[in-house]
Amino acid sequence: MRDVIDGKTPGAFYSRYGLNPTIMALEGKLAQLDHAEASLAFSSGMAAISALFMRFAAQGILCLGDVYGGTKQLLTRQLPELGIKTFSLSQTDLDSVETAIKTHQPRLVYLESPSNPTLQLQNISGLAELAHANGALLAVDNTFATPINQCPIDLGADFTVQSATKYLGGHSDLTAGVLSGCRLELDYINAWRKNLGQTIATEVAHKLSRSLLTLALRVERHNDNAQLIADYLDAHSKVRKTCYPGLASHSQHMLAKQQMSGFGGMASFYIAGDGSMAERFIDLLKVFSIAPSLGGVESLATQPIYTSHYGLSEEILRQADVDGSLIRLSIGLEDINDLIDDLEQAFSLCQ
Ligand SMILES: *Cc1c(COP(=O)(O)O)cnc(C)c1O
Repeated sequence: MRDVIDGKTPGAFYSRYGLNPTIMALEGKLAQLDHAEASLAFSSGMAAISALFMRFAAQGILCLGDVYGGTKQLLTRQLPELGIKTFSLSQTDLDSVETAIKTHQPRLVYLESPSNPTLQLQNISGLAELAHANGALLAVDNTFATPINQCPIDLGADFTVQSATKYLGGHSDLTAGVLSGCRLELDYINAWRKNLGQTIATEVAHKLSRSLLTLALRVERHNDNAQLIADYLDAHSKVRKTCYPGLASHSQHMLAKQQMSGFGGMASFYIAGDGSMAERFIDLLKVFSIAPSLGGVESLATQPIYTSHYGLSEEILRQADVDGSLIRLSIGLEDINDLIDDLEQAFSLCQ
């Protein structure tokens, strides 16, 4: 029994410790997907991110570029309430990051690529090298890409974290998270998971294991549908600009081809008009549902200004390139003709 609790012998003990056969089976699959030594499954993406931050908060965290709203709040509101100062950098070229790392000497550098909602990329291998040269570890939120399209650990990152609520679950019917990395670090982080009570529920672990069986197939279809929709939007007269890493017009398309094997199911665009035109457009959609979240079988549309970026200051919105005319699409698995017909009828009715 003691050897099991100490992690010396594999075995079942108490589910909150993660020592449960269903959870351990899931984690084995997740580690394989992420090309990692080990994985921990959590009750949500934010549980995985917060456990990672607990491990490194006292040693310094530097956050690069746009990140998920909950992550941003944790770094700028909750951790400061505990007296912990974290650092953020919006300019993420290698020179600026090197200066920031040398100034703040963080132990953890954290980023998302592609980012929400404008699909900006970070140079994962370049930033991993920079972090390591300065005694820091790199963690990448890989939720948008999924391990099918991008493997941060192969690119040199130390940790990869995901909201499994999105593509891994894939059916908008579960909430879970995953953190992958080396076993030694994950053992430390597992103590936080255990004592903060963040372990995935066994029933959800089973459901997520089932979802993983179709992950590669689903992501392939998400990629194909999204590329066709991005091509369609990019050529449309009522679209000012389309954001999708698979488009040659994306400013980081070369980097996308280097570090991604597929470009994912998320695409955003600025309608050629104002925020009220974007609102009318979304209201006219019939196949796309208006809803937050992403990564499920069904296609969704949102205006980030009313969802992920609601209530943020003008300055932050300008920095993130978010205005009322921006529409974010999570492109599902429906027939591509149904999706494009739906967008076209909405454009044609929307002046
Ligand atoms: C949804 C999301 C999260 C948070 O995940 P939850 O499962 O909702 O806690 C973190 N990062 C990204 C990029 C997300 O899209």
